[in-house]
Amino acid sequence: MAQNVLCEVNSCRFWADNSCTASTIKIGKNTMTDVTRNAETDCETFETK
Ligand code: SF4
Repeated sequence: MAQNVLCEVNSCRFWADNSCTASTIKIGKNTMTDVTRNAETDCETFETK
């Protein structure tokens, strides 16, 4: 399990009790420019249940 990754995306199949159970996670960016705020980041490991 990824260590100490807290997450509130309860529609993800890796979500359990406000934690992420995936072995690793990859975070990408959703902007073509440099990321300057958290809203411009995305969890690319997300999968629907
Ligand atoms: S894979 Fe991403 S969206 Fe899914 S529980 Fe883990 S951190 Fe949250």
